Amino acid sequence: MKKIKYIRKAAQPHMVGDGFKVRTFISSAMWKDMSPFLMLDYIEPVNYLPTEHPRGVDVHPHKGFETVSILWEGALAHEDSSGGKGKLFAGDVQWMTAGAGILHKEFHEEEFSRKGGVLHGAQLWVNLPAKDKSTAPAYQDIRSATIPEIKLEDEKGKIRIIAGEMNGVKGPANTFTRINIFDAHATADASFDLHVVDGDHTTLLVLKGTIHINDHQTAREGEMLVFEDAGSSIHIQTNNETHLLLLSGEPITEPVAAYGPFVMNTQQEIMQAIDDYNAGKFGVLN
Ligand code: MN
Repeated sequence: MKKIKYIRKAAQPHMVGDGFKVRTFISSAMWKDMSPFLMLDYIEPVNYLPTEHPRGVDVHPHKGFETVSILWEGALAHEDSSGGKGKLFAGDVQWMTAGAGILHKEFHEEEFSRKGGVLHGAQLWVNLPAKDKSTAPAYQDIRSATIPEIKLEDEKGKIRIIAGEMNGVKGPANTFTRINIFDAHATADASFDLHVVDGDHTTLLVLKGTIHINDHQTAREGEMLVFEDAGSSIHIQTNNETHLLLLSGEPITEPVAAYGPFVMNTQQEIMQAIDDYNAGKFGVLN
């Protein structure tokens, strides 16, 4: 059994642009325990009124890491300076490698904006090892239908394997380092195990419901459990309808220097990134 190191509450909600009401679960204070994960913003379900002007976040840069958008409800449209663009619908995941440097924008999809409705998702930032920080920008559009599911017993739910592997089921995401992302939805009174690689950093986010972990601890909606590195299995029992997100990965044991949307290894590299950005080296996006 993997032991719990500590339980932490997500931050109070704040707006990102005018389209994302988020609660931050993973922040910079936790990097030592969370590497390779740099940030996780949970996009709380919000019902948006119809508009002709899609809400979201306009053009901004990223460099040195990857942004992973997971959507449970609604629709998003992304576009970047490397020519990558795509739409995400309920269940889809978009894995963007900013790598050497990119400009992009993230908005509610047009048709969805016109009709209005609930937007619900998450954005995760995954660090890149030093040797891959200058890799060419790339997009992986991961459609819901390509994400395999492990069914829970007695039709009590499912575990979607977005990245990594569990019980021989492999997720579709291509990653630079070993990463598991499991998206679990369960009814009340479900009982199941999650398996990760012994030694990897592991956290479990309770997005909905109340659960018992390893038969002796309770966690509630809005809490995240950070586990000790040792051990490889976590036993979950649900009290009510539950939505969990498990993140686990091989730690990148390199120094982190960060400034807003740039995540590098040294302060000098950060200064260079800012210079490159100001010099227009991240391309053009209108
Ligand atoms: Mn972004």
